[in-house]
Amino acid sequence: MYQNFTSVKPNVSKRVFLQLLRSYYSLPANSPQNGSKFTHIIDEFGKFCYQKDLPKAINAMKCLENHGLWGSSVAYSELIKCCTYNKAIKEGKIVHNHLISNGHKPKLFLLTMLINMYAKFNLLGDAEKLFDEMPERNVVTWTTMISAYSNAKIRHKALEFLVLMLRDQVAPNMYTFSSVLRACDGLSMLREVHCGIVKYGLESDVFVRSALIDAYAKWGELSDAVTVFEEFVTGDMVVWNSIIGAFAQNSDGNEALSLFKKMKRAGFPAKQATLTSTLRAVSGLTLLELGRQIHVHVLKYDKDLILNNALLDMYCKCGDLDAARLAFSQMVDRDVVSWSTMIAGLAQNGFSKDALALFEKMKVSGPTPNYITMVGVLFACSHAGLLDQGWCYFRSMKKVFGIEPGREHYGCMIDLLSRAGKLDDAVKLLDEMNVKKCEPDIVTWRTLLGACRVHRNSDLAIYAAKQILEVEPDDVGTCVLLSNIYENSQRWEDSMALRKTMREKGMKKEPGCSWIEVDKKIHAFTFRDLSHPRIQDIIVELNELIMKLRGAGYVPDTEFILQDLEREQKEDSLQYHSEKLAIVFGLMSLPKESIIRVKKNLRICGDCHLFAKLVAKLEKRVIVIRDQVRYHHFQNGTCSCGDYW
Ligand code: ZN
Ligand code: ZN
Repeated sequence: MYQNFTSVKPNVSKRVFLQLLRSYYSLPANSPQNGSKFTHIIDEFGKFCYQKDLPKAINAMKCLENHGLWGSSVAYSELIKCCTYNKAIKEGKIVHNHLISNGHKPKLFLLTMLINMYAKFNLLGDAEKLFDEMPERNVVTWTTMISAYSNAKIRHKALEFLVLMLRDQVAPNMYTFSSVLRACDGLSMLREVHCGIVKYGLESDVFVRSALIDAYAKWGELSDAVTVFEEFVTGDMVVWNSIIGAFAQNSDGNEALSLFKKMKRAGFPAKQATLTSTLRAVSGLTLLELGRQIHVHVLKYDKDLILNNALLDMYCKCGDLDAARLAFSQMVDRDVVSWSTMIAGLAQNGFSKDALALFEKMKVSGPTPNYITMVGVLFACSHAGLLDQGWCYFRSMKKVFGIEPGREHYGCMIDLLSRAGKLDDAVKLLDEMNVKKCEPDIVTWRTLLGACRVHRNSDLAIYAAKQILEVEPDDVGTCVLLSNIYENSQRWEDSMALRKTMREKGMKKEPGCSWIEVDKKIHAFTFRDLSHPRIQDIIVELNELIMKLRGAGYVPDTEFILQDLEREQKEDSLQYHSEKLAIVFGLMSLPKESIIRVKKNLRICGDCHLFAKLVAKLEKRVIVIRDQVRYHHFQNGTCSCGDYW
């Protein structure tokens, strides 16, 4: 552009020159014509905009306005970007007012950028007002409004704008649909939008496909997600990421992993987003070996916080705290998520003191703790039975960190109080929750029920069990437990009525199931299921082991008070609880130095807990069991849970 200007001969064409200049800087025709001084002001303004010097640019802009001049559209777009990026609301509004002052009509794309700016400031009213005032709107303008509302989760507005857009006969593009898909609030809506996508011929676009897969996964429709995935030859990472993420989110880790392997075979490199999804899938399954293999791919992305946080979480969830600690110490950057994950991971795995020590360190040299951090801290206190410390953190979290205690924090405190046998204080906290209208969730009621079981408080146990059954009337475990409590308190009629209801409903207890990973394969053991190829060897080995343990003083704990087992099931079945089979299989197949890691679908029973403690001591092994509620690290005859779970 400048070359054109300088090549113009000055004496002949000053007028032409100024015309050109005006068109370039979009000067209005009636602006003063004293060229050099004003081009200087305009140039200065442009310079400050490109340098992203907001105060100077705004000053220069005021100077322009005083002289009735206008800067270039490109300079204004830089300025609006700068305001948006710096969340400069006041300056952004000044730019907006300047652009429409004196009847000036800025270019459409600048107005669209202003709408986007207001949306980013969450000033949706201002965005919509500007939108309404615009003389014309293109697909970008419409899409900006739709994504304005979609991001703010005001779904009906986003969809309303789509309808208006179609009525205005503006054809949506891939960005429009990606935003609309995020705003869908139900499956039928999603299918309608899908039809629209096909109608506008956008079904092969990678971004639309990936957004479609995400949307179907969100509503749990994995078969539709797979159909979208398979419709075209998949030539893009984005789509692979979505489909792997879809299965990982829906807790189908096996399928997520098999897709991950397929993707690698198809020659796609494992990138950050895929690795993050896959690690999440592994965490769900506690497939430690596979997690370690993925770790190898993660190494080259040491600056990717989200990915490294997922790695940390995977090691914590798989119960490999040594690896987790190492990963944490080697992280290049750590944010509040990293710290919170590590604190919660330590706490859940029974290393409460370490969790609290890490929290103290965080207070000194880490980021400001958030809601989740405090859940981890209180969990650590409840796990270790640190009553005074727990109260102290709980009562000070609002004052010190500005965090209002929520449902989870109350849950931890109720757990802590229940464990200490202070059931009255726990009930007081329950009342406090009711006043605050953050009603206890089912986990808290289960916690309380567990405590009543240990501390033999039948009245409170019945109350808690009823609360649980109100939310989950078909929870067989709680039904059985409640009827056992009735029997213990000689309330035969209540017990019989409850059992009758259970019979009528055909309720049966979910069979216990345990998993163990050996040679990169998951071996599942289900109560009374003899399908494992080595089950005969395992049972022989188990019987021998029990004989040995009896010699060391082991007595099967059949009288575990208020256990949610059917009475008649108790004696003969204790011996073949799935976690015992899994532990024995682990003893038989894993080398002496490796940790036996078992995952169980139900809460571990008192007998299996005792069994695991004694086996750990007798066989000099470390056994980690992750049950429905928490982790148990068995070592040298003790468990990290301190016999409370
Ligand atoms: Zn058991
Ligand atoms: Zn334990």
